[in-house]
Amino acid sequence: MTEQRSTKQLSEWDHRHLWHPFTQMQEWETEEPVIIERGKGPYLIDTKGNRYLDGTSSIWVNLHGHRHPVLDRAIKTQLNAIAHSTLLGLSNPPAIRLARELVRLAPKGLTRVFYSDDGSTAVEVALKMAVQYWQQARPRAGPKNSFLHLKLAYHGDTIGAVSVGNIELFHARFKPLLFPTLEADPPYCYRCPLKLTYPSCALACLEPVETILRERHRELAGFIIEPLIQAAAGMITQPPGYLNRVRELCTKYDVLLIADEVATGFGRTGTLFACRQERVTPDLMAVSKGLTGGYMPLAATLTTEPLYDAFLGKYEDFKSFFHGHSYTGNPLGCAVALANLDVFRKERTLARLQPKIRLMTRLLRPLRQLPHVGDIRQQGFMAGIELVTDRTGKSPYPLEARIGHRIAQEARKRGLLLRPLGHILVLMPPLSTDAKTLARMVDIVSRSIVSVTTPKPSA
Ligand SMILES: *Cc1c(COP(=O)(O)O)cnc(C)c1O
Repeated sequence: MTEQRSTKQLSEWDHRHLWHPFTQMQEWETEEPVIIERGKGPYLIDTKGNRYLDGTSSIWVNLHGHRHPVLDRAIKTQLNAIAHSTLLGLSNPPAIRLARELVRLAPKGLTRVFYSDDGSTAVEVALKMAVQYWQQARPRAGPKNSFLHLKLAYHGDTIGAVSVGNIELFHARFKPLLFPTLEADPPYCYRCPLKLTYPSCALACLEPVETILRERHRELAGFIIEPLIQAAAGMITQPPGYLNRVRELCTKYDVLLIADEVATGFGRTGTLFACRQERVTPDLMAVSKGLTGGYMPLAATLTTEPLYDAFLGKYEDFKSFFHGHSYTGNPLGCAVALANLDVFRKERTLARLQPKIRLMTRLLRPLRQLPHVGDIRQQGFMAGIELVTDRTGKSPYPLEARIGHRIAQEARKRGLLLRPLGHILVLMPPLSTDAKTLARMVDIVSRSIVSVTTPKPSA
């Protein structure tokens, strides 16, 4: 079959049989899909041979570029041994070695690794561990079954993760299925609910958080938070000191701190884990996206020895953690995750990233002058550009305007793939992206914003 015919055939089959995530399929069926067949470094290549820059690291997972020889080889080598065996009642070398490596690199005090498959399941594991921990650690105290989280939070799409989430558009209709939680305002400085400015605010937004903890800690198992930046919430960055204060408050009120590092983990914020930057050790930490360098679905929930100890006992005490998945500790995933950590060492990924983080700041600065750019937020190599209809009133574009989507469509024509969050554009390139390519990405973003937001002269 010629390339053209096969693309047409695939496109027809896609429209007939596939159901895409977070996608209005009625619209999808009228559009010609971009079918990605290959990748190389920061590029994705479709079935027609068009090359696109991967501006969101294939939804926040890719770190060292596509087809990295070390990562490719790790999977091939592991395949010569075995593709999969279970961790239920058995073990395997890559899972053991990776657990040891993760503990070595994680915030000090996290000593135990529980595997699962994706960010959502890593969060589910953390929530269930937290609840069971309190039942077994303090059997005579009242039930601690509830969770505190920030408004606008996103921790995944399974029911537990949605319960601790708060994105109206995604979550509202599932309310009847969700368990009740407590919510606090996020430190959204651009739209500060207290109308204050950092640093003169002295993190006043933590006072309501403390009030909730003081009044409700007896029922709270944990406080789940994305450290340093709430990514899917709209790239909402936290002011310095915020996470550290959250850690202190959780300790003070005996509530477990659950760090969701699914988006921030593995260098995305400039350090291997975001918690590092505030010298914080959470009680539970969920990782996934970057864990395998964007190669395989794999996740882990890390925890401390005291938490782990509460699950020990004789079999008939039934204190085991009754949870696991078919592919838990998958050897292919663990092998490529080990190779991912190896690449960080061999290529000095984090050291080489620092000047590129500063370059991203410099490149994005002129975009602040664009009349519809309200705010630009950056944490490490993650950036969000918030678009507004007018800058003085900070009025967001209505969802129906699909401003982010339209700009992404424009960027695609110019060779850059983006996936915005409503009216917030996200730029999250692979960590390996070089300076020239980064400059090209920001240039395309800038031109695409101008092209879509500049009123066309009426005919
Ligand atoms: C993506 C994400 C999740 C969910 O991960 P999946 O692999 O999509 O299930 C959870 N938390 C955060 C912070 C994320 O960015």
